[in-house]
Amino acid sequence: MSAGGMSSCIAATSRPSVVVLLSGGLDSSLAVKLMLDQGLNVLALHFVSPFCTCSPRKQGGCSLAARVAQNMGVKLRVMKKGMDYLRIVERPRFGYGRGLNPCIDCRIYMLRRAAEVMMETGSVCVVTGEVLGQRPMSQHRRALDLIERESGLTGRLLRPLSARLLPATIPEREGLIRRESMLALRGRARTLQLTLAKERKIEGFGCASGGCLLTDPVVARRLKDVFRYCPEWDERDARLTTFGRHFRIHEGLKVILGRNAGENARLEQLTGWLPVVSFRDKPGPTAGLRGVYGEQELAAVGRLLRRFAPKVTEGSVEICLRHNGQKKTWVAHESATTEEVRQWAI
Ligand code: SF4
Repeated sequence: MSAGGMSSCIAATSRPSVVVLLSGGLDSSLAVKLMLDQGLNVLALHFVSPFCTCSPRKQGGCSLAARVAQNMGVKLRVMKKGMDYLRIVERPRFGYGRGLNPCIDCRIYMLRRAAEVMMETGSVCVVTGEVLGQRPMSQHRRALDLIERESGLTGRLLRPLSARLLPATIPEREGLIRRESMLALRGRARTLQLTLAKERKIEGFGCASGGCLLTDPVVARRLKDVFRYCPEWDERDARLTTFGRHFRIHEGLKVILGRNAGENARLEQLTGWLPVVSFRDKPGPTAGLRGVYGEQELAAVGRLLRRFAPKVTEGSVEICLRHNGQKKTWVAHESATTEEVRQWAI
């Protein structure tokens, strides 16, 4: 059964359900509230990827959405964007925004998965917090139409913040959702949304404009480097692009250096996967090695560690590599030069 041709048994239920994409930001939180105010059952879907910035990692990557869902008393389902999504980031059909953000493909990906949940739960439509004209790549009218069509949700994709500026969806035409109770917002300003959030007592939402590291030029550069030089890359490589200092010593070896105790600890946790290098007997940065190396490369890694250890200014330092229970030590006599750092930096 196609999404647009769902059986009329859904229309016969007294309290229809909708599936709402909830990032935990202002617009999607308002979308949830608009649906609740119509008396609808809401199932919120929250997508997590290595590139989300709104959610503290230690809380499972969905704390904002969880907080909003809890405050509004709606069920939340967390959906992971895995390798299938990362393959799309590598080769999007509809191109990138200003970084490596494939926003149109990304929306289509999430909405296709939301469409499956809609069918599974017998919901009448999928709802998003998109606003006409708010984002240059994915929220102009042609992009909204394209996304609706490509996600297989023709007639079943409701954008309540701009609904009165868009064609009526099937549930609106069937009288299950009141069109007149929805909004006609357009453009980038969020003043009205903030006022409505206050009026309707919506609390706990996060950064008003959302956050995605794929738009960050530094992360974009690192991810391009992964796609180019690391044919067997996986989710762990994608995650690594979001922290540390990154250097490519040569085509076959990348070095990731922690910038603080937290990042060093994250790199230390990777010892089962990546060889990890640090000073043998003094505090300093930790480095993860991704690729192949010999004596020459290890000497370069030792020089890099010295360069980014402010307390090491002179003398020799013992360096230690650990991997799969094995250890190897050597001595770094000098630090990497400014020219080397510039040449290796990704
Ligand atoms: S900004 Fe990031 S998460 Fe948002 S649509 Fe674009 S790629 Fe997807």
